[in-house]
Amino acid sequence: MKPGIAIHGGAGTIAPSLMTPEKEAAYMLALNNCLAAGYTVLEKGGSALDIVETAVRALEDCELFNAGKGAVFTHDGRHEMDASIMEGKTLMAGAVSGVSNVRNPVQLARAVMEQSQFVLLSGKGAEEFAQTKGLPFEDDAYFYTANRFSQLEELRGSEAVRLDDSPKTKMGTVGCVALDIHGNLAASTSTGGMTNKRYGRVGDSPIIGAGTYANNHTCAISCTGHGEFFIKAVVAYDISCLMEYKGMTLAEACNEVVKNKLVKMGGEGGLIAMDPLGNIELSFNSEGMYRGSQSLGSDAIVGIY
Ligand code: ASP
Repeated sequence: MKPGIAIHGGAGTIAPSLMTPEKEAAYMLALNNCLAAGYTVLEKGGSALDIVETAVRALEDCELFNAGKGAVFTHDGRHEMDASIMEGKTLMAGAVSGVSNVRNPVQLARAVMEQSQFVLLSGKGAEEFAQTKGLPFEDDAYFYTANRFSQLEELRGSEAVRLDDSPKTKMGTVGCVALDIHGNLAASTSTGGMTNKRYGRVGDSPIIGAGTYANNHTCAISCTGHGEFFIKAVVAYDISCLMEYKGMTLAEACNEVVKNKLVKMGGEGGLIAMDPLGNIELSFNSEGMYRGSQSLGSDAIVGIY
């Protein structure tokens, strides 16, 4: 068994020709820092849950990524964030959808998992729960980024919603999977969803089994991509099922779902995955995916394309 960690910062049309060296360097630095935040917890013998929460919080606090501080704008010019977390040992899970002004939605998802009798809380009710638990809130100004606002301005008059599919609208849901030194897996995902979304749209990120899944017997998965397709394909749980019922390896299962099934459906995106042995898969069918991974005692590896 090789304990380790993997993170992602979103998938989409991320091609070298669309990047400047400065932007690329900023993303690489951010990925390295967020990976290091989680790796430090791993190294100290922390639980898989603590590792994934720590890394996802760091990603949420970085405005380059579409989660927490960098969350995209809804049609109404607001931020509605989704997040989830799951523990492979117990199959305990927690998630929130459509929450505003909560500084770290992943922290709230974990509170739902550990301190409530529910799995998924939404909107105002989830915010109320966060208040009762004393979780930090931020005002709208904290979540305002000029870059995200101009992305909304481009789409506002239309019904279009946008994933990370143009050079100007590079975004990135975030996620982390980990295998701790005690042999436990965990997964977490956090997102602002899609620019210009409306009607309370929710993607795959807070849906256990679609965007996030962890089971010590099979794998830990965090997805990013066009959420509607990831929900319909039940991506994260499908990979677990292919391993559990069909005996596939992690690599085979990821390949089948990301490169075959999703492609046939037209679902663009990717995922990060780990199995109980510590094998890591960073799989995507888009041009790029912000990603990083590190096994205990090995060097960190980060990549974009
Ligand atoms: N999967 C997310 C959603 O559909 C978006 C993303 O991964 O960038 O809400």
